[in-house]
Amino acid sequence: MIDEKQITDAANIIKESNYIVVFTGAGISTESGIDDFRSEGGLWSRYDPAIYASYHYFLDDPSKFWEMNRSLEDLVANAEPNPAHYAIAELEELGKVKAIITQNVDMLHQKAGSGKYDAKIFELHGQFGTLECIKCRKEFHYEEIDTKSVKYPVCDCSGFIKPKVVLFGESLPIGVMEGAMNACRECDCFLMVGSSLVVSPANFMPSIAKQYGARILFINKESTVMDNIADIFLRGSASEIFTALMKKINT
Ligand code: NAD
Repeated sequence: MIDEKQITDAANIIKESNYIVVFTGAGISTESGIDDFRSEGGLWSRYDPAIYASYHYFLDDPSKFWEMNRSLEDLVANAEPNPAHYAIAELEELGKVKAIITQNVDMLHQKAGSGKYDAKIFELHGQFGTLECIKCRKEFHYEEIDTKSVKYPVCDCSGFIKPKVVLFGESLPIGVMEGAMNACRECDCFLMVGSSLVVSPANFMPSIAKQYGARILFINKESTVMDNIADIFLRGSASEIFTALMKKINT
């Protein structure tokens, strides 16, 4: 059940803010049909991350990673943004959102229109749409290589090919973390949507924003490990909460 008082208070904070950083996790995309990792029935209950999403394991044997990836390819390619993604794009158009820091690799923020005005999108864990040879760094699009009828794709140089997503044990894309942290230092409101906040170093962001004086809003279905720093915690479905928030903001 949506708490009207909380919606009013959060909408007022958004209206008063001029530099909002939105920080998103897998939970924002569950209503677009892409499972998160840690909720019941999520990806991790089917694919053990220590095997399927570990960079060290990938270097030894990419076939497990590709087994999981193949099951997600069409799902991610065909997924559509939901009202939460569209609301964030609208808040950018209204001049409120200046940066989107996402842990997601599904590119749904861009599909919803984010990044069209002056918001920068920081994809901390890379993105699914481009592939890369881990040896010679040549880039590919899915149409260019056969990912379906082989155990795993290999480059002409003999290097393994993988989407430009960051696996556990792999370093983050150069410069992205720094840009994201700077935005957290600048912002007057930090809005977290759909993350358990357990993955480091992504989860440094809320505390940096708090330390630099931003007001902190959380939208999530479940508690997180950092609830104590949120000024307002809006518990529930991201799309329902954003729909209620935008109604208040636009009146
Ligand atoms: P997580 O799975 O650890 O946590 C997701 C959180 O979202 C949970 O606390 C859950 O309660 C909440 N949630 C689920 N559905 C929601 C909804 N409809 N509305 C509001 N909240 C909802 O996800 P995480 O913190 O992002 O960390 C997992 C890692 O998984 C990230 O590094 C990310 O790269 C990766 N991942 C990405 C995708 C994607 O790109 N869509 C999908 C799965 C995992």
